[in-house]
Amino acid sequence: MQKFHSTVSRRDFMKFMGITAAGLGAAGLVAPAFHDLDELAASTKGNQRRPWYVKEREFYNPTVETDWAVMQRRDPTNTGQQTEMWAKYYGQKRADEASAKGAANVKQWTANKEPGFTYRALALQKSVTRGWPAYVSLGWGGPTTNGTWTKGGGKAYTGVQSPEERGEAKWTGTPEENSQLMNAFMRYCGNAISGYGPLDTDSREYKQIISTNIKHNAAQKVVFEDVPAGYETSTKRVIPTSHQYYLVNWEMMSHDLSRTTPAQGGLFNSSDHVATILKPSTFNFLRYLGYGYVGGGSDDGTPFVEGASAILTGVCEGSRNNVFSLTPEYGPIGRLHNYVTNLPLAATKPIDAGMFKFCYTCGKCANNCPSGSISTASEPTWEIPDINGIPSTMHNRGTKEFWSDGALCRMWRTEYGTSCNKCWGECTFTTNSRAMVHSMIKTTIATASISPLNSFFAKMGDTFGYGTDDQKAEEWWDYSLPILGFDSTVVAFDGGYRKTL
Ligand code: SF4
Ligand code: SF4
Repeated sequence: MQKFHSTVSRRDFMKFMGITAAGLGAAGLVAPAFHDLDELAASTKGNQRRPWYVKEREFYNPTVETDWAVMQRRDPTNTGQQTEMWAKYYGQKRADEASAKGAANVKQWTANKEPGFTYRALALQKSVTRGWPAYVSLGWGGPTTNGTWTKGGGKAYTGVQSPEERGEAKWTGTPEENSQLMNAFMRYCGNAISGYGPLDTDSREYKQIISTNIKHNAAQKVVFEDVPAGYETSTKRVIPTSHQYYLVNWEMMSHDLSRTTPAQGGLFNSSDHVATILKPSTFNFLRYLGYGYVGGGSDDGTPFVEGASAILTGVCEGSRNNVFSLTPEYGPIGRLHNYVTNLPLAATKPIDAGMFKFCYTCGKCANNCPSGSISTASEPTWEIPDINGIPSTMHNRGTKEFWSDGALCRMWRTEYGTSCNKCWGECTFTTNSRAMVHSMIKTTIATASISPLNSFFAKMGDTFGYGTDDQKAEEWWDYSLPILGFDSTVVAFDGGYRKTL
């Protein structure tokens, strides 16, 4: 049923429909039929919902009193944005001097390192970008400029100036200060949850989370070399040995679009819009500070086993479904990206919110997977099962997990035609967090070890109709959804004002 944002609109609509409040139940069954433009204008059907206390006024009657008889069309060049207007009202001399005075002020405040003009503040100002020029893309070692552009005489794009190019020292901070710096910067650029890990010699040799080669180009091996910056050739992608830290970003995607799968599976899968700002901006930020950012190219060019890096750094817990990992705040509905850097970062630890244990008794994703690709085992195993009778080379031994059939999943998605992704929308943790009951359930799951309530909670998801439904792809249009489809406040504490992210 259509919702209304003011009592005035509700009354108007009921008058329009020719019904009384008592007949409201029937109104939902009546398709509106407009007979002329006045009737159409009186409808609130297309209005976005606003707070309950907002009243609507008549057309052309805003709260600013207006005399339409004297109003003229205006010349848009006559605004305070134009220097001509400064000169007209305050004199040419002052208008001419304004830019130079402002630049001198900023120079002075920067030299004094006044609040808001410190090294990190300037890095923030210079680094955030809504995207690089169209002829530039983010490659393994940083921006790569289209060959046609450089052949035509265009200069290769390098991002913001490095400290060397600016003639100043690089940023120095403790690993804890640096992690805090990256948390704040990346959150501003759209990241939800950050994690950091060490990539020292020990972890490279014994804890194998770095891939041997690049997924979309098996010929390219991932190797370490004693070089100042990352680079790639047709046979290798190089991580400098000085780059001993890695960053993990987890960006939110749209909860409600996940429930419109499999119909909108492809669109849902690309609903990590913020990555287009986050990735180039993070490259810029590290470059401004004087540090590297390696491996930030396409999703299938990542140097890591993405889920493993997220689980080791406490961004996520593992799940029954090998397609995604689980965050306590937002379930599985996000996208992972990760990079290597030489900025010293304080490592973050793995977490336990009881979610992987919850998967033992849940299995909702497996029960709803149309291809049967997700394990229905009651316990995780060290042994990797054969895939269709053939030993699996898709999985990496060394963890005790539930093992999905990724080949069947991907093939089925292609056969079906819409990218599926139904398991994301079906996951029991794909719930919104506004209702207090969800917080209470999450707390219970986290504090009890294999709580006997877990299977009850899992069934509740079905009972309350959570999950995907073909009809939700059409109902989606009628909701008053959060911007970009996700509620970013679930990762903010005390409205964002609690110190330390
Ligand atoms: S994407 Fe579809 S086929 Fe693949 S695991 Fe998820 S539900 Fe199953
Ligand atoms: S649906 Fe259940 S079993 Fe599957 S990943 Fe989510 S919590 Fe785990």
